[in-house]
Amino acid sequence: MAIMIKAIRGMHDVLPTESAAWRYIERTFRQLMDSYGYGEMRMPVVEKAALFVRTVGEATDIVEKEMYNFVDRNDERLCLRPEGTAGCVRAGIENGLLQRSGPQRVWYCGPMFRRERPQKGRYRQFHQFGVETFGMAGPEIDAELLLLTARLWKMLGINGLELQINSLGTVAARARYRQQLVAYFNGYLEQLDSDSQRRLKTNPLRILDSKNPSMQAVIDGAPKLCDCLDDESEKDFSRLCALLDAAGVAYSVNPRLVRGLDYYEKLVFDWVGTIGAQSTVCAGGRYDGLVSQLGGPVTPAAGFALGIERLLALLDEEKLAALKPVSDAYLVLAGEAAREHGLVLAESVRDTLPELRLRVNCGDGSFKSQLKRADRSGASLALILGEDELAEARITVKYLRQERQQQTIPQTALTALLREEICNHVQERG
Ligand code: ATP
Ligand code: MG
Repeated sequence: MAIMIKAIRGMHDVLPTESAAWRYIERTFRQLMDSYGYGEMRMPVVEKAALFVRTVGEATDIVEKEMYNFVDRNDERLCLRPEGTAGCVRAGIENGLLQRSGPQRVWYCGPMFRRERPQKGRYRQFHQFGVETFGMAGPEIDAELLLLTARLWKMLGINGLELQINSLGTVAARARYRQQLVAYFNGYLEQLDSDSQRRLKTNPLRILDSKNPSMQAVIDGAPKLCDCLDDESEKDFSRLCALLDAAGVAYSVNPRLVRGLDYYEKLVFDWVGTIGAQSTVCAGGRYDGLVSQLGGPVTPAAGFALGIERLLALLDEEKLAALKPVSDAYLVLAGEAAREHGLVLAESVRDTLPELRLRVNCGDGSFKSQLKRADRSGASLALILGEDELAEARITVKYLRQERQQQTIPQTALTALLREEICNHVQERG
């Protein structure tokens, strides 16, 4: 037997039984974005590597060790996108979107690639919904971003996510803070692990993010960013808090919250679950400097990205089960003539009821095995066309999920019955 070629570690297939939940989330997200007046962007999955080196930052985990880089045949360095913001900003500038007057609100959805150590909630190909806004200085748009995410949790029936917010200050304020931090950690060099000693030179703020228990005391004693904030950031931050209070969105201020991407400034936020190590579902903030850094006009901007796999893990089991069935009705066909007539009948049903999910038995199968297939398809009705039914232009309807007597009806009454029994009750589709 030939040796099987397997998928790449950390990159997963989504099977038909699982995709119903993906579609449900995607549909809900689209609905949400439509209702807030955001437009969809679709960017390439491959970009020039320089785009991320310049924006995400040379000394970040993503660029240092997680990017899938390769050299194209024309010697250009390309990579699979590790995140969506940089590409979205590039697309916005390149297509003149950000040069036009007026604010922009966009969203995107798709796969991202990072060569991390695969584990639960952490994959090498994962999927994000991203939302980016341009041309609006905070904090009203910051509040809008948080309100719409809170609404998404509500639409999906997800409880228990905690909103954490922090202000990183302007770039200038952060540079001052960075100096203080380096001076402080230099006094505790021997207590820092090797990763942190390296970060002290490249990206000292990331040390605050370290999960190493033996460093927690040193980290706790470090100067706090909130003590170095500039007036403008401080004012925006307290205004945002007031807006969230007014809208009734609960949050906590986490002074240790930093982002693993260099372009953030002022507001940063995380929506965090209560269980598991990979518990951050959604992360974002302001990046006022990014557009001009990529050659566009000075443009205030803010956005977030949401991990779809981590969101899926929070969906209610009951809700997931309700999304599973892929068919409503299954047409059982006994005999050569019924097989031919069945295909034609099914087409006419589909003409009238496009929303119905009708599966037709194809190929062989005894009556019993066809009914088994009908049951496995998730259908609530088996429609049976045998020789007797065919001769009388009738069809038998068998109820697979209800204690109910089967009935034989004229074929001309079939669409009315299906509409009554199924289509009128369809509320949510997977
Ligand atoms: P983490 O701290 O978990 O590594 P991050 O700060 O790297 O996350 P961002 O780059 O801000 O994450 O991405 C936003 C969201 O995308 C995360 O909150 C998470 O839900 C999701 N995400 C990021 N990396 C992965 C991954 N490797 N696998 C699955 N989801 C991911
Ligand atoms: Mg990460």
